[in-house]
Amino acid sequence: MIQIPRVGVIVEEGMEAYTIRLRIPAGIVTPDQLRGIADAAQKYGGDDVHLTTRQTIEIPHVAEKNLPALGVALTKNGTPFGAEFQNVVNVTACPGNERCRLANIDAIPFALNIDRKYFGREMPVKTRIGISACPNSCVSERLCEVGVTGHLKPLRHPEKCTGCGTCVDFCNEDALEVINGVIVLNDERCIRCGACVHTCPYGVITAEDPVYEITFGGRRGRHPKVGRRLVIVNSLEAAEQAVDEAMYRIYRQAVGGTRLLADQLDEIGFDQIVKSVLAKLPEDSVVEHL
Ligand code: SF4
Ligand code: SF4
Ligand code: SF4
Repeated sequence: MIQIPRVGVIVEEGMEAYTIRLRIPAGIVTPDQLRGIADAAQKYGGDDVHLTTRQTIEIPHVAEKNLPALGVALTKNGTPFGAEFQNVVNVTACPGNERCRLANIDAIPFALNIDRKYFGREMPVKTRIGISACPNSCVSERLCEVGVTGHLKPLRHPEKCTGCGTCVDFCNEDALEVINGVIVLNDERCIRCGACVHTCPYGVITAEDPVYEITFGGRRGRHPKVGRRLVIVNSLEAAEQAVDEAMYRIYRQAVGGTRLLADQLDEIGFDQIVKSVLAKLPEDSVVEHL
């Protein structure tokens, strides 16, 4: 017997039908699953489906009597009802190393792993997690309750530089400049996006290993806020540990009700949360600055 959760069920205006939000970790579905969603929507929903801003799909206009059968069909399809209330409602990811040439980390496997651990878990506040593999932040992860951003720090070897200036064109931050025939990096301007790495035809710009910036307490909506930096770490394992501790701290310390995490960070002691996260991480995994 398949248990159908009711958390991804949204009552529509007029209260006569429901919109069903699906669980689609990192926005990835197979073509067969997509066909399955289309079939289910056609059979149990209205005339359309809705692609959401958070990489999921909604099936609108479902009558109450169709909810159980739709739930069974979607669960069999591997795209069950999602979550909407005080839960972990969504884990999004950019294509990352799998497909984007600007990526610094493997965003999709990371997101799928987090989704397996946390999706649907009850929390005091609605919790969204986003992972972008570079600071271009294509999934707006810093506007999520927990965000992960991959960075790459360029390393220069000026003794080999010809001063040709090719790499300068790749930096959108004006952080690279040829001075007296040698490449110079402006640390203040560099956001560690990694776009310049490997652009030098002479191999003058290489990179350190990627680092993971974890942010906490962002939000979208009518008063958007960028999440605060919780920690920067130098390995996938440490990034997962940092996310685990961030989630635990939300679970233990956030105040339930209608307020979002972003609006209670000072009240619940953000600085103390940073200390708790640092205490859980191996010392040599923490990076002081980007
Ligand atoms: S965030 Fe960066 S790595 Fe991810 S898709 Fe956007 S540009 Fe590519
Ligand atoms: S890492 Fe990005 S911001 Fe820094 S110098 Fe290279 S291109 Fe510019
Ligand atoms: S592309 Fe290479 S050689 Fe040319 S300025 Fe940049 S670092 Fe120097």
